Amino acid sequence: MACLFCEIVAGRIPSRKAYEDDALLAFHDINPQAPTHVLVVPKRHITSPLDLGPDDDGLVGSMVRRAKEIAKELGLAARGFRLAMNCGEDAGYSVFHIHLHLLGGRPLGWPPG
Ligand code: AMP
Ligand code: ZN
Repeated sequence: MACLFCEIVAGRIPSRKAYEDDALLAFHDINPQAPTHVLVVPKRHITSPLDLGPDDDGLVGSMVRRAKEIAKELGLAARGFRLAMNCGEDAGYSVFHIHLHLLGGRPLGWPPG
């Protein structure tokens, strides 16, 4: 079955892009849970955080660093923001291509629901 985020990376499904380079794409979530809700995804398909290996450390680091750059660009640095990566049923993981959520623009409750 086709992967939704691979389809977005390939441009076959439209997205509202926030950033793109050779390895990463960031786009606004279609169902935002905060005034700013951006997803940072690797262009290479990785099904789940459980599949990450030592070779992926650089890629995951670049996702985190890119997310904070986007947060700064979108004016979230002063008030704060949250980066979250879901995995599995209990976390509600629903698109099986790893993605880092960047959420901000309102107070975010802790612990999360
Ligand atoms: P997760 O629950 O961590 O798997 O998050 C998947 C996220 O993908 C959810 O926040 C969805 O709203 C979002 N999403 C699903 N389809 C699209 C789409 N076509 N464009 C942008 N975001 C999407
Ligand atoms: Zn994929």
